Amino acid sequence: MSSNPNYSFFQSVEKSFDKASKFTNWDLGILEQIKACNSVYQMRFPVKLDDGSIEVIEAYRVQHSQHKSPCKGGIRFSDEVNQDEVMALASLMTYKCAIVNVPFGGGKGGIKIDPKKYSVYELEKITRRYTAELVKKNFIGPGIDVPAPDYGTGPREMAWIVDTYASLKPGEIDAAGCVTGKPVTQGGVRGRTEATGLGVFFGIREVCNMEDTMTKLGLTVGVENKTVVIQGLGNVGYHSAKFFREGGAKVIALAEYEGAIFNADGLNEEEVFQHRKATGSILNFPGATNLAKNTDALELECDILIPAALENVINGENAPRVKAKIIGEAANGPCTPEADEIFAQKGILCVPDMYLNAGGVTVSYFEWLKNLSHVRYGRMEKRLTENLNTKILEQLESLTGKSVSDANREFIMHGPEEHDLVHSGLEETMITATREIMEIWKENPSIPDMRTAAYVSAINKVATSYAQLGIFP
Ligand code: GLU
Repeated sequence: MSSNPNYSFFQSVEKSFDKASKFTNWDLGILEQIKACNSVYQMRFPVKLDDGSIEVIEAYRVQHSQHKSPCKGGIRFSDEVNQDEVMALASLMTYKCAIVNVPFGGGKGGIKIDPKKYSVYELEKITRRYTAELVKKNFIGPGIDVPAPDYGTGPREMAWIVDTYASLKPGEIDAAGCVTGKPVTQGGVRGRTEATGLGVFFGIREVCNMEDTMTKLGLTVGVENKTVVIQGLGNVGYHSAKFFREGGAKVIALAEYEGAIFNADGLNEEEVFQHRKATGSILNFPGATNLAKNTDALELECDILIPAALENVINGENAPRVKAKIIGEAANGPCTPEADEIFAQKGILCVPDMYLNAGGVTVSYFEWLKNLSHVRYGRMEKRLTENLNTKILEQLESLTGKSVSDANREFIMHGPEEHDLVHSGLEETMITATREIMEIWKENPSIPDMRTAAYVSAINKVATSYAQLGIFP
C-alpha cells in the first residue's frame, strides 16, 4: 500500500514530516528521534489449520514512540501487510495522538493474512497466538502498548486478545486495558463504533463554522445545506453520512466498489445500506441515478467530498477534475502528495486524515480510562444530575408560573449516559484540535496546506515532550 512508486509509505510519511519540520525551530537531533521507529518486532509463528496442515504466519508490532506511555494503535489483518507499512502507520499514530491531545505514543500491528481465507476458528488461533507472542516479549499491556481494531479486525478479535492476555497474566487488575475496541460486554465503551464517523463530522463542522475559511472558499458558514459526496459505505462512511444528514447537510452521492448513486435531493444512508444488503449492490436505488464508475463520484460538483474507503483514490491523475471545495480525509491516505499540490493550487481545502479520522483513537482513550477506573461512565453522576435538574425545573416553573414543553423537559432533565459523555468528549477533542491546527496555519501563512499545519502541531507537541523528558545520557 505504498503511496507512490518512487518512495515507500514510511518514506512518504518522513517526507511530509520533513516538509513540516521546516516550519519549526527544533534541534535536528530531536526531529530525528521523533521520526525514528523505536522498536520493530517482526515475528513468525506456526498455526495448525482446520485441514491439519501447518502454516507459518508473518506478523508485526511496531512501537514508534514512547514519549508518552502506553503506545497505541490498531492491528490490521491483510495480505498487503509489510514492515514498511506497519512502521508508517505506527508513526502516523504518534502524530495523530499528539494532534488530538491523547496521551499515547504511536504503535501499530499487522498480521499478513487475508482474513477471508480462514475459518473463524483459525482466525481465533492466529489472534491468540499473536497475543501470546506479544506477551512473551512484553509488547502488550495497559501501560506498555494497547492495540485496537484496524483494517480487517473488529471487536471479535479484540475480545480474543483481552481474553488471552488476561489468562496469561492472572491477577492483573487492569488487564481489560490491554486492548481497546472491545465489545461492550468485555469492557468496551459505548460510542466506539460510530466514533470515527462522528469525529469526521465534528472536525468538518468546525471548519465550516470558521468564517474566514468559508469566505476564502466562497461558501456560507455552517454545515447546514452543504452538499456532501461520500466514497465508501463501511463503518466510517456510513456514520459520516448519518451525522452529516442529521446535521442538516445533503448527502447527494454515495459510492461503493460496484458503482455510485446520485440524488440532488439527498440520500438516506440507512435506506441505501438496506437496499445494498437486499440486492447486493448500491446501484438502482429508487429515485437515484447510477454513475458508471465509483470514482465518478469523486469528480462531482459538491461542497464536501469525503473519501472513506481506500488509500490513493485521489491522485495526480484525477485531482485536477475534483470540484469539491472541501475534502475530508476519513480514510487513511486517500489523497497522494501530488493531489495535495494540485489542491493547494486550486484553493481546495484538504482536511488531513491523521487528524480528521482520530475519533477512533480518541474514543479508545476513553475506553482505556474506563478500564483503568473500573466504572462505567455516567454511573456516579447520572442520577444526581437528573435530581438536580428536576429541582431546578420545579423552581423555574413555580417562580414563573409557566411550564416547559415536554420535549425541552426531557432534554433538560436527562442525566448523562456513557454514550453522551463519550460523544461530548469527542466533540470537545475535535473542536480543540481543529482550532489549534488552524491557529498554527494562520500564524504562518507560508505553510502550504492543512496537512503540513497538522504535522507542525504534532511535531511541536512531541518535541516539547521529548525536550521536557530529557534524553538519557
Ligand atoms: N485503528 C484506528 C486508527 O488507526 C484506531 C486506533 C486505536 O484506537 O488505537 O486510528
